[in-house]
Amino acid sequence: NLSDKLDKALHVLKGHGQITEINVAETLKEVRRALLDADVNFKIAKEFTNRVKEKALGQNVLSSLKPGQLMVKIVKDELTELMGGDAEELDLTGSPSVILMSGLQGSGKTTFSGKLANFLKNKKTRKPLLVACDVYRPAAIDQLHVVGEQIGVEVFSDRGNNDPVAIAKAGVQHAKSDGFNVVIIDTAGRLAVDEQMMTEIANIHKAITPQETLFVVDSMTGQDAVNTAKAFNDVLNFDGVILTKLDGDTRGGAAISIKSVVNKPIKFIGTGEKMEAIDVFYPARMADRILGMGDVVSLVERAQEQFDEEQARQIQKKIAKNRFGFDDFLSQIQQIKKMGNMKDLMGMIPGVGKAMKGLDIDDDAFKHIEAMIHSMTPDERANPSKLNASRKKRIAAGSGRSIQEVNQLLKQFQQMSKMMKMMQGGGGKKMMQMMQN
Ligand code: GDP
Ligand code: MG
Repeated sequence: NLSDKLDKALHVLKGHGQITEINVAETLKEVRRALLDADVNFKIAKEFTNRVKEKALGQNVLSSLKPGQLMVKIVKDELTELMGGDAEELDLTGSPSVILMSGLQGSGKTTFSGKLANFLKNKKTRKPLLVACDVYRPAAIDQLHVVGEQIGVEVFSDRGNNDPVAIAKAGVQHAKSDGFNVVIIDTAGRLAVDEQMMTEIANIHKAITPQETLFVVDSMTGQDAVNTAKAFNDVLNFDGVILTKLDGDTRGGAAISIKSVVNKPIKFIGTGEKMEAIDVFYPARMADRILGMGDVVSLVERAQEQFDEEQARQIQKKIAKNRFGFDDFLSQIQQIKKMGNMKDLMGMIPGVGKAMKGLDIDDDAFKHIEAMIHSMTPDERANPSKLNASRKKRIAAGSGRSIQEVNQLLKQFQQMSKMMKMMQGGGGKKMMQMMQN
């Protein structure tokens, strides 16, 4: 993928004490190829590498003390700039603020509507209402109700009504009279751009004049994402882009291309199916992530939001004293389960993403882990180093798992202890420093 390719390209520079004009050119070629592989439009990729080259020459990379590092910085800065520079917030100044979702079927509108409602609700001053305007499938209305129930947000729907414009208007009216200050309107999409869908979304848009019209797009659709974005933008002149499914085989290319073609900011990203899997889009962090450095800042922020602070402090004390045991591991797992998909989170940590690729940590695996830990004696949980072969055998038998699984658990435990150690104290900052060397 893109990060591996850039890793390789930049490795050439990092490794060499000296850079010649030839390996600058070589590196730029690699960077360009990496961007093309990630579905970035050819013209955009070419312009990008030309700009990097100009900057590199302008800043005299070749004669600088650490040419590799300077070159990495230039590539990163340019990539950040290409994706919009600074993070852009939602305009929530309306009363109520109306947010309209648009996009193809399956892009993640309904899921994201829920995530955004939950995100805003957690900000305390916001009281969101969800409005179900996908009238073509009864299941679509049900889906939004399920989501609303999950996050404790009211959903406005009108099952007898098949006029989405009327429902949208009634939803906004309901919000006004019942004290909601944000209205999120979920709409119907189709599998491909067609006139009827465009006319419908344009009509809703005209009827309710939203503060924010958001275009939701599946980041795995590559070049198609750009064409769809263009079609919706021509009709809606939308305010921002939501890039979903960035948890899968991440194609950072979509972020770059869409921004370049429609020149609208990407505001949020979706990183999983759970309601917590939403992040503000920070171009600089995305650039880091594309460059394979891990999205540490997001990780730490999300961790801070979800971790019970007092418990975290207790655990830090234990880590400092080297008394972190399986009981703590268990409670950490429970915390992490709350935070969303564990693999996503691990993937954000530099170096760990690759190491975790083979490990399948799903909810079932959590159950197995819990079973194995419950088969340990309190003494073993507190002192994992006591787990010799015969104890492992007993635990395997007691929990109905294999010896290999017990061994894997021990390995995971060690990884987790290491990670917890890195995260304590200086937290993200310390990790950042480690990475920059
Ligand atoms: P809609 O047709 O635009 O409303 O799309 P949905 O919200 O129903 O989402 C379609 C599918 O994509 C569902 O199975 C969602 O669970 C899934 N989905 C949505 N967002 C994400 C995401 O960020 N990551 C992953 N992995 N799946 C997502
Ligand atoms: Mg939907």
